[in-house]
Parts: sequence; structure tokens; C-alpha cells
Amino acid sequence: MWRASVLTIFPEMFPGPLGLSLAGKAMAAGAWSLDVVDIRNFATDKHRTVDDTPAGGGPGMVMKADVLGRAIDAAAASDARPRLLMSPRGVPLTQARIEALTLDAGVILICGRFEGIDERVIAARGLEEISIGDYVLSGGEIAAMALIDACVRLLPGVMGAPASGAEESFADGLLEYPQYTRPQLWEGRPIPEILTSGDHGKIAAWRRAEAERLTRERRPDLWARHFGARAKPASPE
Ligand code: SAH
Repeated sequence: MWRASVLTIFPEMFPGPLGLSLAGKAMAAGAWSLDVVDIRNFATDKHRTVDDTPAGGGPGMVMKADVLGRAIDAAAASDARPRLLMSPRGVPLTQARIEALTLDAGVILICGRFEGIDERVIAARGLEEISIGDYVLSGGEIAAMALIDACVRLLPGVMGAPASGAEESFADGLLEYPQYTRPQLWEGRPIPEILTSGDHGKIAAWRRAEAERLTRERRPDLWARHFGARAKPASPE
């Protein structure tokens, strides 16, 4: 069973949204499991201190290497799962990485708080820094939830139709085509006729063209990569 271990000073945030809907049902059905480790349990003083002032001065607090090191050792010693530190400095998370993570036994996720964690823990415990985007959250918990949610929906048996993952945004380096459902006419706006034509070949071609158009317009970065992965266009667009 795919297993996520989350190290946090706010264990009460979990499972939170991961206990509901698709992820919650998948957990109840035994497709994945979650262990939450309270980093504070590894503090040794009577105030259960997990942070201290930054060496060299400056604002905020830094999570202590000794406490976090003990928490990681207790949760994950001799555990082959990847150890990922949620961090705005990390490698940006992609759908391809999510897919790769679902093939492992699970993940160990470390959630920072305050100004972040003592740098020495990263090297000493072999942590890989992962970012969910170029913005700063107040803690790693929501980033960890985003990563787990994206993994769980891909686990075998979790999504309704087996094909629903294969056609989505990023699956082949393109954004997804537009979706419609009944009513056929809403506020004067019809569903594109081709989608109700029953001609599956034409529908597939239309969806492909729309996916390409949206990717080109909105995500020139993805579009360039998509083209690069196939063949270079004869002339620049
Ligand atoms: N001072 C740090 C930011 C600390 S934010 C810096 O400037 O880089 C506090 C914690 O929130 C981080 O330790 C990290 O665990 C989490 N976090 C913030 N933004 C994130 C992001 N974009 N992706 C993943 N985790 C993030």
C-alpha cells in the first residue's frame, strides 16, 4: 500500500481535506495510508521547543536541526521512500514527478514552518527540496497535501474510469481541451456542435486542436517543450 508519512508541528491539520472525497474514500478503501508525525514530540526541553533564532541575525525563527533530525530518524530510519522537504527553493513539482512518486512505496514529507529549517539537516538526512510554485506559503503542510492529493488520485483503482488520468492536462505535455455538459443551450451559448455529432474521429481531432491552441496561447513554455520532444517545427512560429 502506498504510504505517506508527514512530519509537521501541526499534526491536527491532517488528514484534513485528504480525508474527504476521492482521497478520503481511497484511504478508507485501503489504497493508501497516512502517518502523521508531530515534530514537537522530539523536543527535549519542557517547553517542547522546535525553533530558535537565526544564526547571523535577521527576522523570524529557524527549525532546529537536532529536533528535526530525531523526528526524521524515528519516522524514516532505513526507509527507502524518498524524503522530500517542502520548500520554495526546491525543484518545481510536475505531473511527471507525481507519476514517478506513485511508483515508489510512498513518500516522507517534511513540512517547514517559520523561516524554514536548519540547512544542515538537508544534507545530513538526504532531503530533496520540492516546491509547489513560485510563491511563499506560511508552512509546508498545504504543499504536502497538494503533493499527496496529486499522487493518490493516480494510484491504481482510485479514479473512476481508468482512462480519466490519461487525457488530462500535462499527461502528454498539453493542457486539457475544454469540457461541456448538458444543458445543450445555456444562456444563449450552445455546446460546440462537433461534440454532439457522434463522430468520434472528428471529436478527437477537435479536442487535440483545442488542447494545442490553449497550450500555445497560455503556456508557451509547455508548448516549446512539447514541440521539442517531438520534432522541431520547420520554421519558428
Ligand atoms: N524563508 C523561506 C520561506 C519559509 S516559508 C524562503 O524565503 O525560502 C515556511 C515553510 O513553508 C517552508 O519551510 C516550506 O516548508 C513551506 N513553503 C513555503 N512556500 C512553499 C512552496 N512554494 N512550496 C513548498 N513549500 C513551501
